[in-house]
Amino acid sequence: MKQLAIIFCLFIGLNISAQTDEETIKQIYHTSLTNGKSYEWLDYLSNQIGGRLSGSLNAERAVDYTKAELDSLGLDKVWLQPVMVPRWVRGAPEYAYIETVPGKTTTVNICALGSSVATLGGGVKANIIEVKGIDELATLGREQIEGKIVFFNRPMQADLISTFSAYGGAVDQRGAGAKEASKYGAVGVIVRSMNLRLDDLPHTGNMNYGDIPASQRIPAAAISTNDAELLSAMLTLDKNIKFFFRQNCQQLSEVQSYNVIGQITGSEFPEEYIVVGGHLDSWDLGDGSHDDGAGCVQSMDVLRLLKEIGVKPKRSIRVVLFMNEENGLRGGTKYAEVAKQKGENHIFALESDSGGFTPRGFSFDCSDELFSKVLDWKPLFKPYLIHYFEKGGSGADIGPLKGNAEVLAGLRPDSQRYFDYHHASNDTFDAINKRELELGAATMAALVYLFDKYGTSINNH
Ligand SMILES: [Zn+2]
Repeated sequence: MKQLAIIFCLFIGLNISAQTDEETIKQIYHTSLTNGKSYEWLDYLSNQIGGRLSGSLNAERAVDYTKAELDSLGLDKVWLQPVMVPRWVRGAPEYAYIETVPGKTTTVNICALGSSVATLGGGVKANIIEVKGIDELATLGREQIEGKIVFFNRPMQADLISTFSAYGGAVDQRGAGAKEASKYGAVGVIVRSMNLRLDDLPHTGNMNYGDIPASQRIPAAAISTNDAELLSAMLTLDKNIKFFFRQNCQQLSEVQSYNVIGQITGSEFPEEYIVVGGHLDSWDLGDGSHDDGAGCVQSMDVLRLLKEIGVKPKRSIRVVLFMNEENGLRGGTKYAEVAKQKGENHIFALESDSGGFTPRGFSFDCSDELFSKVLDWKPLFKPYLIHYFEKGGSGADIGPLKGNAEVLAGLRPDSQRYFDYHHASNDTFDAINKRELELGAATMAALVYLFDKYGTSINNH
């Protein structure tokens, strides 16, 4: 009898509700690092499926695969949320060269920007004019731009510690360069890749034409940073050199796709929702391992890790794998729209879409009051070298939940290497470090655990 009583006491001692937050979080990290699933899932997504451009067969396969994996976890509910997505296809590989004198050419590495039109006929060949930004177009005017290709060559700012800030400061050239240059009669645009290092890989990414009529849309491509440097140097020597590029991309009709959703239903407050997610679509040049396969598998593992260590959430926790972040944000928009229609109250949403690198912390989009509550949890993360708790943006896919969710947050991994891979052909599984990926999953699970336990009411802890 005495022995039984001791065993009973031991059992109670192991009960998760009797544990301190420190102990539970330790268990989360332990489980992720010794028995994580994120790496195995990402291996499949990257190597068995590959790039998952919206509307592609691979995107469909990724929906089926992740749904099946979530089904196997024994969650309370797993379902697909229909969403229509744009379908842009790259077509045959792009080709480009610099021509110094007729017949004397140097080939360079380019790729079409997402949503761009193709070059008509056999390609575009014209004089090329370099600018450092959209502002310069007005100074040059139609006189100097008409009939030429505009070369946007402002590099990402190297001395910013957050490479996302550097990206934010340069990406207008990619997004709006073609739209603006077409107003001055340009026949195409070439944009320096959003990459802080010098290499030979062109980085794609979305652009848009705004309200420019279809007949006046000009093709846009990214050029590798090495070739941007070469082109710029050649232009300093001779303003009359020509540039040729050819691309066959096309915008096809929209197709049906899905957000993939899994849920553990809350035991006490099932009507309060917590979302954790990433985006399942990716660009097509690489395998979308960092962007954003990593965020998807980490989010899936958040629910599995909590289950694995016996946490019974009070609130309903959902993993959402959003479709079409890269060229439309349709999945994020749809999820928020349905949540609003159903009157679902989201208290917290967390996104991982900054690569699978060593986690440093989170940025929070919430009231000052709630942020100070969140700061009380910061010491719990100290043993895991998680120190970055700042107010700021969260993630593109959960952005539309603003106004519904009280707190939005983004996982902030170390960003120094992210733009070496972002939207380029080297965003593949070999660029992923298993431990870094697992640390990210654990860090997310720990924060979700705390939000589930304490909620977002200020006096509640
Ligand atoms: Zn992304």
